[in-house]
Amino acid sequence: MSQAALSPRARASMVGALVALSAWLAWTWLLAEPVKTRIAKASPGQKTVIFIVLDTTRADHLSACGYERPTSPTLARLAEAGSLSCRAYAPGSWTYPSHASFFTGLPVTEHGSHFVGQGEARTARVIRKLTIRPLDPELRTLAEDFTARGYQTAGLSSNPVLAPASGLDRGFGLWRTAEQFGPWYGRGMERQLTRLVREDLDPERPLFLFLNLADAHDPWDGVPAGLDWVPERKDFLMYFRLDEGELVDGEWAHYVTRRWTAEQDEAFRVRVRDLYDHALSEADQTLASALGILEAHGWMEDVRLVLVSDHGEFLGEHQLARHGRYLWEPNQRVPLLFLDEQAPVELPEGPLSALVVHELVLNGRLPSPLPPVQAVAFPDKAWLEHSGGQVGGATSAAIWTTDGKQLWMDGVSYRVDLSEDPEEQRPIRMEPDEDLSELVRQTRASQARELLMDPQLEQALRAAGYLE
Ligand SMILES: [Zn+2]
Repeated sequence: MSQAALSPRARASMVGALVALSAWLAWTWLLAEPVKTRIAKASPGQKTVIFIVLDTTRADHLSACGYERPTSPTLARLAEAGSLSCRAYAPGSWTYPSHASFFTGLPVTEHGSHFVGQGEARTARVIRKLTIRPLDPELRTLAEDFTARGYQTAGLSSNPVLAPASGLDRGFGLWRTAEQFGPWYGRGMERQLTRLVREDLDPERPLFLFLNLADAHDPWDGVPAGLDWVPERKDFLMYFRLDEGELVDGEWAHYVTRRWTAEQDEAFRVRVRDLYDHALSEADQTLASALGILEAHGWMEDVRLVLVSDHGEFLGEHQLARHGRYLWEPNQRVPLLFLDEQAPVELPEGPLSALVVHELVLNGRLPSPLPPVQAVAFPDKAWLEHSGGQVGGATSAAIWTTDGKQLWMDGVSYRVDLSEDPEEQRPIRMEPDEDLSELVRQTRASQARELLMDPQLEQALRAAGYLE
């Protein structure tokens, strides 16, 4: 067991979550309308494989990783049966590039699915309002590998970024995503998963299931009254928002552009922390419900469960909000859990690239050798332009070692000693060493890469209205 010790409070809330889970299961059995519940009977040796991304989850705000608030009782319970790393690092800085890495096992600089910077607009394609490269059709995905092994494959995502036009659905027999953030959180995902297990899955065939649970991703719907660990909070207009092409000035804007007094800034940080922590606890609750639904339908009998996050969230650190534009720790350090009671794997203590989920999901083991712990960020230049440069961002590359990290941002290199300077307030200018220089070279090459678009994918994207 590699997770940090739990506080008594976290243990108490863990028990609470178990009680809630049992109650939920009882509810499922007692109140659900009589249906022909089909219990899964996968063949021996073809265990159920479940891959869950808890979107926007930073490790240092999880009670399972020692955080003082009871944000993740379900994850803590799972960690007792498996192995949890609280020092995994997401390969990308936001949803899309990190998922492309998880599905292909490749670092972001190799798969090339990320924002395309200025100067390449000629070859770029527009997906919704994001100028990104869809997943390269040449690359093989986890779902394709499982299909080749005779598995049925299904994916559900409450994060709309994983729309079919992203190419991330390639290889899945069934793929459903929410159309926007919010509607599939909590009960929304419970309904989708219940429908999937009742109507779509074949209990006679082995299953590879992917879930993205995005409850921790904004918009946060506020904190209700009556919780003993977090005060009631109202929702608020969070950030710069484009409305009919006009920029709407939200509270984030006041914060990130330093328009408030120190007191207002502090009040803002406290409030955002409350909203985020509560959203994390809701994601954890959705995780409990999802596993309860799968268990009730026989899909948890012989199971390999891999859980990770695709990135974290800034809660005011470095005067930043949200995620995606920088590689500081709040954006990159995520949890990674492996659970297979028949074939356990102990995750290493030190920094770990979240890229390893590809091999953990596919074959139930860590890759050997372990990949270097690296990440890159390509900020969304369109947002920078729309906000008149107010929304910051830097094309970045980072390498983690046991005692710290090297960070390159828009041409300048730094060293951060994370044990001496955990909040990264005093990065030290340095000349990039050989490893960082090579990663920077790859980062620049990836940014400049021409888009190779599959004609069929292009046609499908256009038909779906994603291409202009
Ligand atoms: Zn995400």
